[in-house]
Amino acid sequence: MKMKRCRTCGIYTLKETCPNCGRPTTSPHPPRFSPLDPYGKYRRMLKKQVFGGQL
Ligand SMILES: [Zn+2]
Repeated sequence: MKMKRCRTCGIYTLKETCPNCGRPTTSPHPPRFSPLDPYGKYRRMLKKQVFGGQL
């Protein structure tokens, strides 16, 4: 399933058009950390720890 968002109403829907105002919906901004990469955050933290002490 792909969530869509009406930028006018600010509501989320699965439909191509907003059920509230009828405007075409758009994909919301991607999450800060992708759910497809759940360990990316920890990799970045580790990298920061490793390089933080050397640089
Ligand atoms: Zn709307």
